[in-house]
Amino acid sequence: MALVEDVISLLEKQEGLTAREICTALNLEPSREKEVYSALIKASRILKRKGKRLVMQPPRCRKCGVEFDRPNPTKCPRCKSQWIEDARFFID
Ligand SMILES: [Zn+2]
Repeated sequence: MALVEDVISLLEKQEGLTAREICTALNLEPSREKEVYSALIKASRILKRKGKRLVMQPPRCRKCGVEFDRPNPTKCPRCKSQWIEDARFFID
């Protein structure tokens, strides 16, 4: 099965996962987190066709609280902290 389908069926069972948690749940190497992010983008297109929606709870800086619109920031643009709360994904 394609990764994107695995990601969708996982999120249908278990909501609010981060890309890292998706890696763990699907027994993927942590280095494949990037692939999970691109699978999530594909998943959102597939879900749209099914009348569903992939919702992202945006990543947030744990230091200053700023929220990001990109799914995978490495550093806070405001305070330069790397202490980032990962984005979580839901199917709506
Ligand atoms: Zn910050």
